[in-house]
Amino acid sequence: ACDAIGIDIGGTKIAAGLVASDGTIRRKLVLPTPGSSPREVENVIATLVDELAADSCVSSVGVGAAGWMDLTNSTVLFSPHLAWRNEPLRASLEARLGRPVIVMNDADAAAVAESQFGAGQGETRLVVITLGTGIGGAIVNDGQLERGRWGVGGEFGHQIFVPRGHVCECGNRGCWEQYASGNALGRLGREMFESGGPRVQALAEAASREGRRVDGALVTRVALEGDPLCQELVEEVGEWLGIGLANLAAALDPGRFVIGGGLSSAGELLLRPAREALAKNLTGRGFRPVAEVVLADLGADAGLVGAAESARRSALAGGESH
Ligand code: BGC
Ligand code: ZN
Repeated sequence: ACDAIGIDIGGTKIAAGLVASDGTIRRKLVLPTPGSSPREVENVIATLVDELAADSCVSSVGVGAAGWMDLTNSTVLFSPHLAWRNEPLRASLEARLGRPVIVMNDADAAAVAESQFGAGQGETRLVVITLGTGIGGAIVNDGQLERGRWGVGGEFGHQIFVPRGHVCECGNRGCWEQYASGNALGRLGREMFESGGPRVQALAEAASREGRRVDGALVTRVALEGDPLCQELVEEVGEWLGIGLANLAAALDPGRFVIGGGLSSAGELLLRPAREALAKNLTGRGFRPVAEVVLADLGADAGLVGAAESARRSALAGGESH
C-alpha cells in the first residue's frame, strides 16, 4: 500500500512526514511557519508535500493544526493561535495538491497516533492532553475519536478555571491553558526572571548564554539540569495540570491520561505533582479507581503520525471524514 503524508502545523514550525501504515516515519522535513496567513501556510505545505511525494507513492495527506475543525474535516472554523476563521483548507489544498486531504485538530491527531501506536495502546477509554503553546485535548473510546456533536469537543484547555484570570487567545479569561501549558510555564519564568531575585541566577545565565527570551522550553531545560527555582515552576504547572485532570476524571472517567506536547519533555518533574493533585482533588477519592497518568510515547512526532494515519483511514473508507 502507498504511504500517507502527515503535516503538523505548529506556531513556529511545520513538520511533514511520509508515514507507513505501521506508523513508521520514512522521511521527515521541517520548515518554519510563515506568519499566519492561510495562503502562505498552504505554500509551505505544498512545498513539503511535493518534496516528500517526489519519489514515493502517496495516497493521501492529513493536516493537523490548532483549531476547531468541522465534522467533515474540511474547514478550520476557528483557531486561537492562527488567524484562521471559517477557512476551507481542505478544498484549497486538494485543488492545489491533486490528492485527497483531510484537516484535523492537532491534539486529535496526536491522540490517534498515541492510541494506535503509542502510550494509549491497550486502554479502552483514553483522554489525551497535549501541552505546548496551549492545551490540546481528545477523547478516544475503543480506538475511535469522540469529537462531539459538531466536531469541536475536547477543547479542555478553554475550560475556565479562574474567573477574571489571565486573558486567553480564545477571547475568554482564566482558561486552563493559561495556567498549565508551556506558555504558562514561560510566563511564570519571565515573571521570576524580571523580579531579578537571588534565585533566578541559573535561569538568567541560560537565557543570556542562548541569547533568547525566557520561555517554557528554557525553564523546562534548566529545571531538568537541577535548578530548584525552575523545578518549583514546573511543579506549579504540574499541580494545575493535576487539578484539571481531576475535573476531567469527574466528567469523563477515562482509564488513562496520556500527556504529550513539548512541555511533556519535563517528564516526572511534571507528572509527579500532577498525579498528586489528581489524587488529592478527585471526587469520590478512596472509593473509586484512579486513572493512570502516563507520558506520550511518540513525542514531537505524534501529530504528524496521527494526521497521516487518519488520512490513510479516511482514504480507505472512501474519502469520508473521521
Ligand atoms: C487549541 C486547541 C489545540 C491546542 C494545542 C488550544 O489552544 O484551542 O485546538 O489543540 O491549543 O495546540
Ligand atoms: Zn481560552
